[in-house]
Amino acid sequence: MLAIIMDVWCAIRTYPKHAAELGNSTPQEPVFFLKSSSSVVPFGQIDCQNGDIHHELELVVRIGEDLKPDAMAVGLDLTKRTTQDYLKTGGLPWAAAKSFRGASVIGDWVDFSDNVAYDLQINGEIKQKATLNQMSWSISQLVGKLSEWAPLQVGDVLFTGTPAGVGPLNRGDTIQVRLSQGNKVLSIHSADCI
Ligand code: ZN
Repeated sequence: MLAIIMDVWCAIRTYPKHAAELGNSTPQEPVFFLKSSSSVVPFGQIDCQNGDIHHELELVVRIGEDLKPDAMAVGLDLTKRTTQDYLKTGGLPWAAAKSFRGASVIGDWVDFSDNVAYDLQINGEIKQKATLNQMSWSISQLVGKLSEWAPLQVGDVLFTGTPAGVGPLNRGDTIQVRLSQGNKVLSIHSADCI
């Protein structure tokens, strides 16, 4: 019997303000790529590779029965920006920039809701924050579009794209990420950049 391996799907340019900050246009239809499941790590320590790693704060949803999201977590779609820029210029696949060891940080799972806010602080300063209604598509629209062609399975996860404010991580930085609903904090995690 084949073991079921979780796939890590990612949507890009779902927040128009972030697409603009990297000089990209906003797509008419959602665009997706994959990260390897073995790149997933918990919050704790991030190897910032001398500042070439950029943080992309993202809401991550887990696919449940009937291919509907059944849980969510805050995550980081870590990106080697210099490598990605080089690959983008050549029209080449992004794996080296997006699926290196430790590239996919995922926090604790909580019950899914599409009415949440999330933010990322570095050394106590808010760098990224968003609510899901600022995205070009709802979570269910994104999952629906992906499942039109993707072999989506129960247990797969989807990174839903980053809001504006991406930037480099430097050795010694402390990151804190929060997922909240109104005044209620649903989950909070921190990580040190080494
Ligand atoms: Zn991303």
